[in-house]
Amino acid sequence: MDAVNTDLSALRGKYAGAAAYLDGSFMPLAEAKIPVTHWGYRRSDVTYDVVGVKDGRFFRLDDHIKRFRASMTALHMDPPESDEEIRDILMKLVLMADVRDAYVSMECLRASPAPGALRHPASCRAYLSCSAVPWISIITPEMEVRGMHLIVSKVRRMPVDSFDPRVKNFMWGDLTESLFEAKAAGADFAVLLDHDGNVTEGPGFNVFCITDGVVATPIRGGLDGITRKSVFELCEELGLKLEVREVSEDELRNADEIFTSTTAGGIMPASRLDGRIFGNDRPGPISMKLKEAFWAKRAQGWHGTDIL
Ligand code: PLP
Repeated sequence: MDAVNTDLSALRGKYAGAAAYLDGSFMPLAEAKIPVTHWGYRRSDVTYDVVGVKDGRFFRLDDHIKRFRASMTALHMDPPESDEEIRDILMKLVLMADVRDAYVSMECLRASPAPGALRHPASCRAYLSCSAVPWISIITPEMEVRGMHLIVSKVRRMPVDSFDPRVKNFMWGDLTESLFEAKAAGADFAVLLDHDGNVTEGPGFNVFCITDGVVATPIRGGLDGITRKSVFELCEELGLKLEVREVSEDELRNADEIFTSTTAGGIMPASRLDGRIFGNDRPGPISMKLKEAFWAKRAQGWHGTDIL
């Protein structure tokens, strides 16, 4: 692996704008290609994580690496790189890409069995694919101003006893369909329920609702989002009551405010859910308070790790 013992100053801008690390080597992102026979591609036998960089600083880098490791362990994946080496690789990728605001992803995928080996995932080695590109947000500037327009999808989220949604995954069949459903309804995104009718999450974000000043978010059915964890800390700091429990469809529909959270967007208030307009058709006041506190604290270095 050429991740270690490199002169760091020589790395800056080496692969300007888009740098990758694939299976032990650094390269321009355009050169990072995986064989189409690999099970990471053919079976979605892959896990991933995404960490954000703003103003040259990672946000909660070690939390993301810890979650990534937990996802890999849950999927019986043990790539050669240690957590410390993954940290070093991500740092170097941002230096190589030379972007101050970056979207940094790490993936671990399974290759394919060697010819003649048993066609079993245990026969496949697992390897890393990581990249750093300019920051990507899932919401547009227009959505930031007017709030997200959501629907409740008819598609139910994959049951937790089929696949644990806390293992970050690309099995997006349900989430992808919900995006087409939202588009057909003229909305931006969808929220998915579980088979008991409780709220889970949306395509790439966790969901919160606020009723009578109390912030509530589902206890199960979704990813343990790192931004969600940050919302918990902000609620505590701002003196907002937070409840992590089942959230029914009715509670969501009748809430005073709704917001969502994700790395690629931060705290994202909503203003519509299906036919209902919330408040004055703009992000609600408590959601905005949380959103502003989130970005203000990040600008001050909250949970930040400076790029070398
Ligand atoms: N839920 C899903 C399905 C996601 O893919 C994501 C992020 O990509 C989230 C929730 C939010 O998690 P985080 O705040 O860690 O980005």
